[in-house]
Amino acid sequence: MEKIAIISHDGKKPDMVAFVKDNLHLLSEYDLTATGTTGSHIEKAGLRVEKNLSGPKGGDAQIAAQVAEGKIHAVIFLRDPLGKHPHDPDISMLMRVCDVHNVPIFTNLKAAQIYLEYLYYKKKCGES
Ligand code: PGA
Repeated sequence: MEKIAIISHDGKKPDMVAFVKDNLHLLSEYDLTATGTTGSHIEKAGLRVEKNLSGPKGGDAQIAAQVAEGKIHAVIFLRDPLGKHPHDPDISMLMRVCDVHNVPIFTNLKAAQIYLEYLYYKKKCGES
């Protein structure tokens, strides 16, 4: 089963929760992994999710390691471009590792919605 990573900065958590709730059915068909706090919100919304450490404590780096190992097929990362983040080096590293391994990373809500439309279309056409 394809595995999708979900991460959201604090300023984007309300958007992320609404996004997950709007797409519960489709997302339930994928393995999900998330940074710690994002993962707790996803669980509360009703989905099973593997939780890593919180982002500032190394969660983004853990997800980057899984990308490098070929275990993650896409990353939805709702970034807050207006916030300051102590773990900016980890975030840059995650984005770099995604580019190295050609793993798509969707860094805003619209991009994430387009990705889910793609997943929906793929499912409808019976592609895996
Ligand atoms: P969090 O981490 O889900 O634990 O809040 C997200 C981040 O800031 O990278």
